[in-house]
Amino acid sequence: MLELRPNCECCNRDLPPQSTEAMICTYECTFCRSCTDAVLKGRCPNCGGELVRRPIRPAAKLAKHPASTQRVLKPHPGCAPQS
Ligand SMILES: [Zn+2]
Ligand SMILES: [Zn+2]
Repeated sequence: MLELRPNCECCNRDLPPQSTEAMICTYECTFCRSCTDAVLKGRCPNCGGELVRRPIRPAAKLAKHPASTQRVLKPHPGCAPQS
């Protein structure tokens, strides 16, 4: 089951479970659409994998299996290249 993380790892923008702006990789690294397009070019900076739109969990299921509230943020803000 997906964690549905609450924020973008790059810019820390809120990505609520019903957001269509949330993009995830196969490890559930989570980014917003603008970081994915403008900064990351569709690739996860953590694992190099593909970023795809996170599916929306139906509201009834969300009540039963709530989204994660644990914010994950990369140590380099804005996903700056590590040096
Ligand atoms: Zn972002
Ligand atoms: Zn990843």
